[in-house]
Amino acid sequence: TMSSKKEDKGKNIQVVVRCRPFNLLERKANSHSVLECDSQRKEVCARTGGINDKLGKKTYTFDMVFGPSAKQIDVYRSVVCPILDEVIMGYNCTIFAYGQTGTGKTFTMEGERSPDGEFTWEEDPLAGIIPRTLHQIFEKLSENGTEFSVKVSLLEIYNEELFDLLSPTPDVGERLQMFDDPRNKRGVIIKGLEEVSVHNKDEVYHILERGAAKRTTASTLMNAYSSRSHSVFSVTIHMKETTVDGEELVKIGKLNLVDLAGSENIGRSGAVDKRAREAGNINQSLLTLGRVITALVERAPHIPYRESKLTRILQDSLGGRTKTSIIATVSPASINLEETVSTLEYANRAK
Ligand code: ADP
Ligand code: MG
Repeated sequence: TMSSKKEDKGKNIQVVVRCRPFNLLERKANSHSVLECDSQRKEVCARTGGINDKLGKKTYTFDMVFGPSAKQIDVYRSVVCPILDEVIMGYNCTIFAYGQTGTGKTFTMEGERSPDGEFTWEEDPLAGIIPRTLHQIFEKLSENGTEFSVKVSLLEIYNEELFDLLSPTPDVGERLQMFDDPRNKRGVIIKGLEEVSVHNKDEVYHILERGAAKRTTASTLMNAYSSRSHSVFSVTIHMKETTVDGEELVKIGKLNLVDLAGSENIGRSGAVDKRAREAGNINQSLLTLGRVITALVERAPHIPYRESKLTRILQDSLGGRTKTSIIATVSPASINLEETVSTLEYANRAK
């Protein structure tokens, strides 16, 4: 029936919206708020018409809604914790941040550091999903006595080319090649991708710093790098458990944390607008991701994973018995209304 199909869908792909607070620029422009976030009802209401126009409103319902006052810990607890539990059970999962540039994708995925060095990096209230997740992996698995190992990789896709942000060589311009994995129907092999073993949570911080330095270099070499590139941070956990009868079980779980290119890179209906096309700015990965998610939601017989680098890389972590969360980030301000509505519509299609 319709309702059971809907229930199943909600279990595998979850869509949440996070609205950031007003920024200085929006305040200076005297921009007013066009979004109302109701976390209880899980609704976002966008005022698309005039201020006093009751009809010019559109209400969207999502799996969760975070308003401007929501903290990093709130997003972590509600969105990431349940997904991390799946990963620890041995499944592959993915969390995406999708939205217009400047709406908080990187703030949500990586977070920031509070000034004054008041907090350790993983306990900083501004820490985002990546540091919190790594911290929690070590806490949870050390606690329950599992023998485990953790590896991370950080690759970025710009203009359908792959860059390894953790490679030991100083060169960021080196492109990685990708092949189908002959041993795994749903997998790919990324030749030469650095997978760094992490032995304790403090090592992670240095690894992320290394990635950040390469990203800075990349942004000087490639036009609009930070808004056009997709960043894929993957954590793989190998876990060894001994059952009561002394049998050894090995579980492997993977979590991909993806900071997507700015959604302004694709047009409203998912089509590429003329201007973007002329600028050579067709984001194949972002377009294909939308199509893959729509196909998964509609249970289409064919899922077009192969049509972009991003969806090929994530194929073993999207669909099937995996869990996916999409965090759509938006601005509350009237000056961004058009992009905000386009993000809400995209997110609404992914439900
Ligand atoms: P994006 O990665 O989507 O381009 P950023 O994460 O860089 O956007 O965010 C843009 C700015 O907005 C940053 O200065 C960031 O600190 C701020 N910001 C974003 N989201 C929030 C939030 N939820 N609370 C407070 N500040 C935020
Ligand atoms: Mg960003």
